[in-house]
This record gives sequence, structure tokens and C-alpha cells, in this order.
Amino acid sequence: MKKITIHELLQDYKKILHHDITVYGWVRAFRSNRFIALNDGSAMDNIQIVVDYEQFDENTLNKISVASSVKITGEVVESQGSGQQIEIIAKKIEILGDNFTEERDKTILQPKRHSLEVLRDQAHLRFRTNLFSAVFRVRSAVSFAIHDFFRQNRFFYINTPIITGADAEGAGEMFTVTNLDLNDLPKTEEGTVDFSEDFFGKKTNLTVSGQLEAETAAMGLGRVYTFGPTFRAENSNTTRHLAEFWMVEPEVAFNNLEDNIDLAEDFLKYVINYVLDHCKTDLEFLDKRFAEEQKQKPEKDRAKEGLIEKLENVVKKRFKRVSYTEAVEILMNSKENKKGKFQFPVEQWGIDLQSEHERYLVEKHFETPVVLFDYPKDIKAFYMRLNEDQKTVAAMDVLFPGIGEIIGGSQREERLEVLRSKMQEMNVDEHELWWYLDTRKFGSVPHAGFGLGLERLILFVTGLTNIRDVIPFPRTPNNAEF
Ligand code: ATP
Ligand code: MN
Repeated sequence: MKKITIHELLQDYKKILHHDITVYGWVRAFRSNRFIALNDGSAMDNIQIVVDYEQFDENTLNKISVASSVKITGEVVESQGSGQQIEIIAKKIEILGDNFTEERDKTILQPKRHSLEVLRDQAHLRFRTNLFSAVFRVRSAVSFAIHDFFRQNRFFYINTPIITGADAEGAGEMFTVTNLDLNDLPKTEEGTVDFSEDFFGKKTNLTVSGQLEAETAAMGLGRVYTFGPTFRAENSNTTRHLAEFWMVEPEVAFNNLEDNIDLAEDFLKYVINYVLDHCKTDLEFLDKRFAEEQKQKPEKDRAKEGLIEKLENVVKKRFKRVSYTEAVEILMNSKENKKGKFQFPVEQWGIDLQSEHERYLVEKHFETPVVLFDYPKDIKAFYMRLNEDQKTVAAMDVLFPGIGEIIGGSQREERLEVLRSKMQEMNVDEHELWWYLDTRKFGSVPHAGFGLGLERLILFVTGLTNIRDVIPFPRTPNNAEF
């Protein structure tokens, strides 16, 4: 017989009512030596197993405890109790994995809530909790929704390299990839490391963005997107930065900045809608948890909406589009700024916005997602298209409540001469990016794209607040344990 997941079983049990079936899973609770709550990860819901203890030997019963794994065969019946529609009357119980007795008392195995910090250190048990299994099921759904969206819009999924020969892609600090013997480094005459002896014959790094390669592909395929791991040696320990994260980067030939903003808005709404439609039980669980968390906060810090309500509202509302210049004026004139409440006061046009500023705009001023555009050219990357005013570039950031920047993008500079002079101004090596410049030499076209950090979107959708809790194996400064 084909194995059946608990999710499938609960979805469609009518056919197997009063039949014997076999289920596999981990014990979530064992009450009164009689009721097992069994979970196999396929969904939030457990199936209840009813055990008549007189029919089973003591040795087996003793091994049924929280976290042990079992294979159970029994009859599917309508449930006597409330809380579930069906249950299984156990006929055969096989213990697959017992708990090591000396570790059995570890509090982590008990059916209670654990702090996220504790769970972060328990790789295997993390996936067993309601919270993390919900988060990772939602993460999986989001990933597929992302692919769906692009496929429906006839984008092509391309894979850009993880090891890159570019030293500055303009997006962040890089990790070096080397095969050299670190205890016996070859040196050049000037005394620096001689990377010409390294594996690739040059210095290589882990990618900080697939954008430049995606642009190259878009110059022939039209609409492309990447979806892959991205690495940044972020030295700051924040709740929104990982050293390894997943980025989605669409790049579209013939799009201008406005098209790009439209795409970002449609894309985010599609994915959030998808989660609302397909992850109901998990979202309901996360929604409850979110509400409980809010209760513990001082009244002024509490979220105005529940989690699901927030997601529904984001899908309904049109994102507010505001120029950088307008945003800086709003910030300069804000009560917060005048009373000195910002850690970084907003004093003049040209400053880089900090996350406290972004969050003020989104959470206090506009109370809706905000798209900021036309940033000062000096605070943005070299490839962003110079506007007519010669002072700003056609950049856009999408800011979300509770998160700050979730998407960063721009219309790209397609004019070879302008691009060249920008590179010179910003000290970007032309020789290294010869292949990128080629795209501006032969049939260059206006084009635009953006990058979405997958984990930031998952934070938003799940209502969690630390980015380490929405990626299965977080990589942050001083942490690469498992
Ligand atoms: P921030 O200012 O928040 O560091 P950024 O300007 O460096 O972001 P971009 O280079 O525009 O970000 O990258 C595009 C998107 O990738 C961001 O909008 C964000 O969602 C995500 N992102 C960037 N850096 C990280 C990181 N270290 N960890 C997780 N996600 C990130
Ligand atoms: Mn950054």
C-alpha cells in the first residue's frame, strides 16, 4: 500500500473510514497512557491515535514518549472526542526511534513553548516544533509561488554563478573563494597574494547578487529571473541580515522604472495572496502566536492589525509611491526628527536613509507599504540609470511595515558612455566588467530589475522578527554551526 501522509488522511478520510491504515510520525504528546497526538510534518494538524493499553506490552508503551517515532496500524473511525473528526484505533504499534533515556528529560522534548534562542541551537528539534514547521512549510509555499508568478508571466528562470570573478558587483562585502594553501601563500613581487596561482587563475568570490549576469541574459531572453543563494560578509549583527540568504532577481528588457515598480507590486501581492490561499492552517497558527506576542508588548508598541489582517490589507491597498526628495522632506519635518527621536537625525537632502527612517515612513506616516524612488546618485550603485536632473538615479526600494527594505531595484544605465563615466567616478574596474559593458555596445536597450530577499518576505508573512528564524540553517557572524 502507498504510504499516506497525515495531511492527506485528514483531507480526504471518507473513503478510508472503517478501513485499516498505517501512519508514521513523531509523538507530540501521549496523554493518560491512551491518546497519542501524532505528527509527520505534512501539516500543522496531528492525528489522534487511541491506544488500549491492555492490548500492548509494557515495553512498547514505555517507549512512547514525546519525540519518539512510531509506525502505527489501526482502524480509522469517527472521533468520539471534540477537536478532531477522525482518530485511529491502534492495532499494531512499532517503535521506530526511541529517545535516548539519558536525554529523555531534556526540557526541549516537553510539549511546551520554547524560546526561539534555545531552538536556534537545536538543529534537529527545531523542525519538530509547531512554529518552525509552520514557518518552513510557508517558506516552501512562498518559493513555489515565486516560480509560479514568473512562469505565468513568461519569465525564464536562469541560474547565475555562485562563484564569481567580479570583485565589486556593487552590492556588498564579499567572501573570497580560494584553493590556495593559506599557510603558504604565493606572493607577487609587490608582496601581495598572487591569485594567478589560484584555482581559477584569478581572485574569485561568492556572489553578492546575480544581477549583472541576469542583465546579460535579459539582453537576449527578454524576461528572466534568478532565485538562488547570495552571500554577503555583513559585519553587523542585525535581525534583518544574514551572511547567506536567498535572493530573487527579475530583470526585464524594455522596462522603465515605473514598469519595474508595477512588477514589484504585482509580484509581492501575488505571493502574499498565494500564501493566504494555500497555507491557511499554518497562517492561523502564526496569527495566534503573533497576537500573543503583541499582548506582551507595551500598548504603544503593539501592531495595529493581526497577522492575517495585515496580509489581507497589503494585498488590497495600492502601495504608496514617493520620491526620495519628498520622503526626506517628510522626515525632516516630522515630530520625531524635531524632537531628536531618531538615532540618525535627518538634516539634509542626500543622506542614506536608515531603517528607523524607512519604518517611520511606512508604519507611522503612510501606514501602508511604500515605494521610494529617484534616490541621490551618490548613495546608490554605479549601474543605476542617471536621471535628467543629473543628481538622482532611477532607483526604487520597496519598504514594508515591520521590515523596512524588502526589495531594492532600479532601471539600469543602458547608455555606454554614461555607464563608463559612472564607473570611473565610483572606482569600478572597467576591465573586469568588460563582458557587462559589451551588453551596452551591441543593441543596448532600456531595462530594469530588482532584488527581493526571500527571508525578509518570509519574516513579513510569518510575523517573526528575527531573520535567523526563517531560514533552516542560518549563517551569521560567528555562527556556521550546522
Ligand atoms: P539593506 O540596506 O537592508 O542592507 P541592501 O540595500 O544591501 O539592503 P540590496 O543590495 O538592494 O539590499 O539587495 C536586495 C534585497 O536583498 C534587499 O532589499 C533585501 O531584501 C535583501 N538583502 C540584502 N542584504 C541582505 C542580507 N544580508 N540578508 C538578508 N537579506 C538581504
Ligand atoms: Mn546591505
